[in-house]
Amino acid sequence: MKRTYLIKPVLHDEYPFITHGKGIYLYDDQGKQYIDGSSGAVTASIGHGVQEVINAMAEQSKKVSFVYRSQFTTEVAEQLAKKMSDISPGDLNWSFFVNSGSEATETAMKIAIQYWQEQGRNTKNKIISRWMSYHGITMGALSMSGHIQRRERFEPMLENYPSVSAPYYYRDANGRTIEECDDDYAEELEKEIWRVGKEHIAAFIAEPLVGAAGGALTPSDQYFRKMKAVCDEYDILFIADEVMTGIGRTGKMFGMEHFGITADIMATGKGMGAGYTPIAAAVVSEKVMEPILNGSKSIMSGHTFSANPQSAATALAVLQYMEKYNVVENSARMGAYLKKRITELAQTSEIIGDVRGKGLFVGIEFVEDKLTKKSFSRECDLVNRIVRANFEEGLLVYPANAGVDGITGDAIILSPPLTIRKEEVEELVTRFAAALRKVERELLGAFAR
Ligand code: PMP
Repeated sequence: MKRTYLIKPVLHDEYPFITHGKGIYLYDDQGKQYIDGSSGAVTASIGHGVQEVINAMAEQSKKVSFVYRSQFTTEVAEQLAKKMSDISPGDLNWSFFVNSGSEATETAMKIAIQYWQEQGRNTKNKIISRWMSYHGITMGALSMSGHIQRRERFEPMLENYPSVSAPYYYRDANGRTIEECDDDYAEELEKEIWRVGKEHIAAFIAEPLVGAAGGALTPSDQYFRKMKAVCDEYDILFIADEVMTGIGRTGKMFGMEHFGITADIMATGKGMGAGYTPIAAAVVSEKVMEPILNGSKSIMSGHTFSANPQSAATALAVLQYMEKYNVVENSARMGAYLKKRITELAQTSEIIGDVRGKGLFVGIEFVEDKLTKKSFSRECDLVNRIVRANFEEGLLVYPANAGVDGITGDAIILSPPLTIRKEEVEELVTRFAAALRKVERELLGAFAR
């Protein structure tokens, strides 16, 4: 391995050097091929090396790569904002562009607080989130997140925002029906609002399907209707964090479309630039914009690279590509197929406890005992074992922590590029099955000793 000066996630680990990518595949400098079964961090949604996007990037850089949003606008940034309005549900018409998902959720949070301030309701400045959630790594976004490992080092500096449970029927139901669970989740939200006081709460934030902190935890069709009804009753805005689930990942353009409700503010990122550029957005409804347009006429946030034409042109090309090739429909179709194949695999697996998700966002939870749903011990380090075994087979999978502090479960997410073809899904499943058998054999060996 070469000496490097790059700060990487685990400093003493060795990372392969990737030289290039094409479609769902990545290649390292040793000639090894990987299926990008996670789209990196659920990001490379249209696969690697797409020529249309590369051309659009080159064309834009010949014109102008950067102008500052306080001084100019550009045709391409306006076009992207129009496109976002066209593809977003309901009256989510206004886009505030930023560079990462963390900035998008933090911008959404600030806009929610400003919305109430514009109406003289200055005490509404807390955000309710859910324990199993990840909304980003910056301090505001982390304050809203329940991801213990990412929080604990900075806990004293974080806001202690109120939190409620996310729907985790696999472990929470305990004999209750899904409907009863949903009623209880909504009641928990209502109690939390009473405890904190509705005059202190600006918004409730939720991922349509919980990603990094849950492994594609999937709510029922009714869950969000019930939660939104509580928000409406107590004058609390609803923020959908679609950073992971947005832009076709779950088989619809946005995850919330599965559940028949529209957010007041939506954060999106990752698949928007599909890995070709860092770009994300807070997409804001007419309802939320109205008092701001009539009030201070400016949103108090912004970043140097917000709405830069280079990123805007890239994201626009990604969205046009998705439209041209019906990529969202492919996500729904291939996602259903992948989930079916993994569900079949689960029948013969000793350790797959739950298969969940929508579209090409398939969560798999592993358990030591399928009957009691007992999780593996921390020493077993199951998620890392699974990730490593797949890596050796040439398949990248996304590790997730199901449960607060990983106590309640180990999960991964399969989230390949949305452009994946059926025979490629088969190849992915073959590699996954081989890795699974390897881990099962390892565990069996460990138990036998
Ligand atoms: N929200 C969600 C739901 C996410 O999954 C992530 C990233 N995993 C973020 C926010 C933060 O995005 P970023 O890493 O681009 O800052």
